[in-house]
Amino acid sequence: MKKLTAILIACMLVLLAASFDVAAAETSGIVSGGVYTLTCGGKNLTVSADKNGAGVSANAPDSSWAQRFVLRYDSSENAYRIYTMLSENGRRRVLDIIKKNKKVVAGCSVDIYNPIDPAAQLFNIIKLTNGKFKISPKSNPNVALTFSASGASVETCGRSVSSAFQWEIKSVTDWQYMFITPGQIATTISDLFGAPRVEGSSRHKGLDIVAERRGKIKGYTLSSVADGAVLYEGYSKTAGNYIAIKLNDGFTVRYLHMMNRSPKKIKSAVKKGEYIGNVGTSGNSTGYHLHFDCNTIGAYRGGENSRTVNYSTCVDPAPFFPGIKFTARR
Ligand SMILES: [Zn+2]
Repeated sequence: MKKLTAILIACMLVLLAASFDVAAAETSGIVSGGVYTLTCGGKNLTVSADKNGAGVSANAPDSSWAQRFVLRYDSSENAYRIYTMLSENGRRRVLDIIKKNKKVVAGCSVDIYNPIDPAAQLFNIIKLTNGKFKISPKSNPNVALTFSASGASVETCGRSVSSAFQWEIKSVTDWQYMFITPGQIATTISDLFGAPRVEGSSRHKGLDIVAERRGKIKGYTLSSVADGAVLYEGYSKTAGNYIAIKLNDGFTVRYLHMMNRSPKKIKSAVKKGEYIGNVGTSGNSTGYHLHFDCNTIGAYRGGENSRTVNYSTCVDPAPFFPGIKFTARR
């Protein structure tokens, strides 16, 4: 009983911390954990293909994963981290200010989140009177993220915030939760994105959702997270009954191990929130769970007509559900 009380108190503290987190972040109109594009001078901040830098590009469409960032508020630091949707072997990357001798100098790179470097990875995001934002490293409010022809840099900013420092921050989180029955809030994860796999060296490229608060998620009804069209639906020995939906925003999401085949057929349109199947344990699965993954452009190797999944372009789906706190199973 004592243990249960302790767990309950711990849960309440987590909930309190989470709501504080979001409330504090929302004062600027930004929802902590949401997915955003950052635009300055009509061009979007872009993570370059070599994964090590950030530039400002007009060419790539703004639905590209390289132009989407998760803004996460850290209440203990009172500042934001700017995560890229890109990851390397499931390891998160953040926007990072280049430093020399521990002083912020110029330019932006994209680094693995660990080791944590507060001077380089924490930002204040300040809303300006025109609705745009100034983004300054927490360690130095006299400089700000700047749009320049050669890419994003960090420059000294004066009292007047010139247009090169003014960023438009637009939310692109428009997904709904993947379970639709009222009261179903399955958020317990057995394998997070990036979890090491038992066999082989590659990492887990999706979320394995195993339970809700009161028990198993057997039979839970699943819905499409956004508008799109069915890319594939079928059965395979590994994925079991599965459906892959190409969303209109460019991403492809897959739901694996379903109880039965989906009622939706290949190429048919699906609406956000529309019923697509039920949680099962078909295929290579050891218990009732939903494997949900999210792929960027090039979901399938050899184009969209081959069913071999291109795991190298999978991204963590969790940031698309900023209101949901996924917890790992103990
Ligand atoms: Zn999985």
